[in-house]
Amino acid sequence: MTSTPFNTLPLPPALLDNLSAIGYHKMTEIQRQSLPLLLAGRDLIARAKTGSGKTAAFGIGLLLQLDPARYSPQSLVLCPTRELATQVAQELRRLARFLPNIKILTLSGGTPIGPQIGSLEHGAHVIVGTPGRIRDHLRKQTLKLDHIRTLVLDEADRMLDMGFRDEIRQIAAETPAGRQTLLFSATYPDEIQRLSGDFQRDPAQVILEEAP
Ligand code: ADP
Ligand code: MG
Repeated sequence: MTSTPFNTLPLPPALLDNLSAIGYHKMTEIQRQSLPLLLAGRDLIARAKTGSGKTAAFGIGLLLQLDPARYSPQSLVLCPTRELATQVAQELRRLARFLPNIKILTLSGGTPIGPQIGSLEHGAHVIVGTPGRIRDHLRKQTLKLDHIRTLVLDEADRMLDMGFRDEIRQIAAETPAGRQTLLFSATYPDEIQRLSGDFQRDPAQVILEEAP
């Protein structure tokens, strides 16, 4: 943990109040290094070990891009498993308390697709899901990604290990070319660099070394 408080960044006061309310006063190292780049609109490759606060790093970045008045998906977060998608959505909901009426929807496999389609009809600002199920929704045309501003590949190394490369490719192809693409990972194999080359534009890199 570093000693840099969140209020050293140009963040809206309501967001700063909410961060204090949930007990986040100082940035973690990954947050300290990546948030200025995210706020500047850069694509980003961020590598830091589990538990370092990566969700809030991309979460704050994507929430600040949202237009609450527009009920169409503006951010898409891809996660390797249903459990991780649920955890990420929970954290995003906590972080989003400063914004009125933001809807964050989880679309993962292992659960019936019908109710998800019903929820999508009511509109959502942020979608968190697993690549297989998101691809299913695209095939059924129950999900449209043409207003996505931020695409996050969370635990990208695990998604590659699980064989989701084609799904990620198909999903990214349906998002606008001008989107911001954020790639978070705990390890940094060559395949991550290739993935970045496929989907990112001039990405900034924040690579934290493991503590000795
Ligand atoms: P990662 O995705 O890097 O594994 P998480 O985003 O799941 O890490 O965060 C790990 C834990 O740290 C969570 O319990 C989260 O609530 C907490 N956390 C994140 N950022 C902060 C912060 N700035 N101050 C205090 N706790 C934080
Ligand atoms: Mg994480």
